[in-house]
Order: sequence, then C-alpha cells, then structure tokens
Amino acid sequence: MLPYGTVDVAEAVLGRGLTYAETLWFRYSAGKSDYFLYCHTILFLFLAFSLVPLPFVLMELWPSDAFDKYKIQPKVKLSFAEVVKCYKDVLRMFFLMVGPLQLVSYPSVQMIGIRTGLPLPSGWEILSQLLVYFLMEDYTNYWIHRFLHSKWAYEKIHSVHHEFTTPIGFAAPYAHWAEILLLGIPSFLGPALVPGHMITFWLWVALRQIEAIEAHCGYDLPWTPSKYIPFYGGADYHDYHHYVGEQSHSNFASVFTYCDFIYGTDKGYQYHKKLLGKLKEGSRRGGGQNGEKSSSCDWDGKCD
Ligand SMILES: [Zn+2]
Ligand SMILES: [Zn+2]
Repeated sequence: MLPYGTVDVAEAVLGRGLTYAETLWFRYSAGKSDYFLYCHTILFLFLAFSLVPLPFVLMELWPSDAFDKYKIQPKVKLSFAEVVKCYKDVLRMFFLMVGPLQLVSYPSVQMIGIRTGLPLPSGWEILSQLLVYFLMEDYTNYWIHRFLHSKWAYEKIHSVHHEFTTPIGFAAPYAHWAEILLLGIPSFLGPALVPGHMITFWLWVALRQIEAIEAHCGYDLPWTPSKYIPFYGGADYHDYHHYVGEQSHSNFASVFTYCDFIYGTDKGYQYHKKLLGKLKEGSRRGGGQNGEKSSSCDWDGKCD
C-alpha cells in the first residue's frame, strides 16, 4: 500500500511531478495491500496458461497449408480430446498447487524486498533485471533439468512432463507437482538476488511463462524469437528434447542454448538438424522440377 494519500502528497515527497505511468500506478495501487497486489500473479499465470497457447492449439486442430509447413513434427496431430485433457490437467494442477503456492509464498517476497511504491523503475532498470532473471533461471534450471533426467528422478517425477513427445502450448506447465515446486526455485533466484519492483516481478512471471509456452508450441514459425535473439532455444530446440524423451541427453536448457553448448549436451540435436537438413534437401530435389514435393520431415527422418 502506498504511504501517500493523494497524488499531490506523492509528488511533494518525490520532489517532482509523477509520470503518466506513475499516476496510473498510484490510482490503481494506492488503496490496495501489498499482499493483494502480489496475488495478481495468480491471475497473470492463469491468463498466460489459458490464452497464450490458444493460437498454437488452433493451428494444431484446424489444418491449414499456411501453418502446417511450420509444424516441427508434421506426422503427429493431437486430437481435440487430447488437447482438452491436457488443459484440464494443467488447470487442476494450477488450482491445487500453483495458485495456493502463490498465496502462501508472500512472506518470501516480502523478505527479499520486492517493492510496490514510487518511483516506478525505469525501462533500463526493468530490462536489465529481466535479463539477470532469465540468465539465472536458465543456468539453474539447466542443472535441475539434468538431475530430472537421472533414472530415479525421471521415473518418479519428470516422466509426467515428457508424456507429450509432441508438445503443445498447453503442455508447457504440464508436470508433476514436485517438478513445479523444484522449478520454482530457479524462477525465484533472480528476483531474490536482484529484487525489483512488483511490476518487474509480474513481467518476469508472465514472460517466463510465455517463453515456455512458445518453446512447447510445436511450430517453428518465421517470427519465433530464436530467429532473432542469439543463443535463444525456442520451439524447435525444446521439441527435440521431448521427441527423444527419457533417453534424451540433449537440450536441457530452458531458454538459451549456451549451457548445452558449453557442457556438450546439444550434440544429438545438432546431429539431427544436420541430418534433417540433408533429408529435406533430398526430398525437395526428389519432388521433381516442378518443386511441388513437400519437404516436411519428422525428427526420425521420415519425410513426405
Ligand atoms: Zn526433460
Ligand atoms: Zn518441456
């Protein structure tokens, strides 16, 4: 809750006029408790889990030449019933685990010092903190994910997330409750080490979920961030990890690719990419001079 009764008082304390964004924040948050503001995270997570996968799921359910050519595993199409079951399972875990976890984790947010007051952080402050959060999460998640591929942890915990060998957007948070708990640690490390404003925290939570949903969407679209951001994994990268499943010793990183490169866990993926490139080229040439032959190939090398 902001310690100012009016905008005038806030301006007097800050010694300057409020920006437009600060005025909006003042009007919205002044009368609300910090705990209530923190609980907004539940709403943002729910909206991300429910809405962000929708365009990808529509591509999956309604075949169209415009998007089918970008499907990473073109031979596999999930049914409407399978998609709905995935979403229902995710929602059940959301209401039984993710939501309650947010409700009781407020003391930790208070302890690390995430603030809700004025002034609002600058754009550079938000960007630099988000970058730190992404890098910290990526590195820690990499090692937890490698642990989850040990025989015991895979059988007891991580196999649930790998039920989808052909991932869809809704499957991003589809996991065992213990995995959701474990992977909460890397997500919280960045804000714990470099605490920022509640708005930065909300942005972090939302962006991390959007990134995970895109990585599980099953489509390697032309505008995917991996085409523009150096060392960004993306859908193609994580799809291979799901395709290989339990045996996978490749592509453990959640966001970027540098950990897999440094620790040599991207070799299987690089080999398959090269192989698929050659197969696609061959398939295209085999289609004759009219070039009508499709060049879509699954990870196992089966081409149209
Ligand atoms: Zn895995
Ligand atoms: Zn996954």
